[in-house]
Amino acid sequence: MSRHHADAMPHVNTDRLWQWHMRMARFGATGRGGVNRPALSTDDIELHKQIALWARERKFDVEIDDYGNQFMRRPGTDENCAPLVSGSHSDSQPTGGRFDGISGVLAALEAVEVMEEARIRTRHPLEIVIWNNEEGVRFRPTQMGSAVYAGHARLGPLQAAVDPQGVSLETEVDRLRQAVDFASERSLGKPFAGYLELHIEQGPILEEEQIDIGIVTSIQGTRKFEVQILGEAAHAGTTPSRNRRDALVDAVNVVKALQILFYDPLDLVRFTIGQFEVKPGALAVVPDNVFFTIDFRHHEDAVLKSLGDQVKAVCEDAAERCNVSVTETRNAHSENFPKSVQKIVETACSARGYTYRYLPSGAGHDARYLNAFCPSGMVFIPCRNGISHNEAEYADPAALAKGAQIVADTLLMLDEQLAS
Ligand SMILES: [Zn+2]
Repeated sequence: MSRHHADAMPHVNTDRLWQWHMRMARFGATGRGGVNRPALSTDDIELHKQIALWARERKFDVEIDDYGNQFMRRPGTDENCAPLVSGSHSDSQPTGGRFDGISGVLAALEAVEVMEEARIRTRHPLEIVIWNNEEGVRFRPTQMGSAVYAGHARLGPLQAAVDPQGVSLETEVDRLRQAVDFASERSLGKPFAGYLELHIEQGPILEEEQIDIGIVTSIQGTRKFEVQILGEAAHAGTTPSRNRRDALVDAVNVVKALQILFYDPLDLVRFTIGQFEVKPGALAVVPDNVFFTIDFRHHEDAVLKSLGDQVKAVCEDAAERCNVSVTETRNAHSENFPKSVQKIVETACSARGYTYRYLPSGAGHDARYLNAFCPSGMVFIPCRNGISHNEAEYADPAALAKGAQIVADTLLMLDEQLAS
């Protein structure tokens, strides 16, 4: 950090940041300490509005794009510069926590608030972003807003996306625009000078090692599959085994074979069957239809390829009597953040005397899609017991404040070092 900025950048306000978290946690509060805040639900829209109002009070422009991504813009001294952007998402899992996503939005908000108070001007405009539909619970796919914004996903089919109740994304974006009626139109793909995202780690490493800040090196790649096994329904009382084409029996064979394929003595492979449906689902009927999903992740693209490419054949070979079809629904390589941005985060940590370590991200984040779009980076902070996607998720006020401080300091350094 340059002497100028080290002296200029004051401390973030720990209490204010915590109060913001507790205020935001009321939107979609479950009553068990967590939140259930689907993307652009009424609660989520109300949250967007609160942050938009905060921005309007400071005379910042608010912009919303066609996918419901919302930007709050503090002007820079050189308006020819593309903005430096920081934020994350506000939607949650159905039994989500109070910190996943929203902490990244609020860290950026606090960073900007401190600069406002200290009257620190940046050359680049600073934007706080709330990406829409990161979790992928209400609409598919995950990280939809950032993927579309950065040009990774095609526009047509996604805008028509509907939630399980048949409500379209387009309808809900209109509702957001009505709620935040002072927001103007944002065009997709409008350039960024740089992107920085804070997130809770969602894993145990930082807490176990008592480290303040994780400097994220990469986001691991992922391949996702859907497997459909078709047999034949039959009477459970009258049909002998030899005559059955039981889809569940073959599903068990397939799952066993997949467990062997993905077995990893190093325990670096992440293999999950998160959805599993048996039909018709009647007590006295031999199942004729099993559907399940495969979520496979790894940090090395070579491993993603070699194991992922075997999934189809392994599933087909393992089934004895039923027909198996395998569809790959996602194939994303691992994403490495530029060393230059990681180094700036490290410099910020050193200057504050915070402990830090480099680590890869096991979870996907919006920053994945921004990385090819502009110089990007991620900051992790510890969360209690590494628990996330859970109502018990917790990050303490001091950890949140340290994270926001590093966001503020890093944004200032990026402002000096990045081109327009
Ligand atoms: Zn998240």
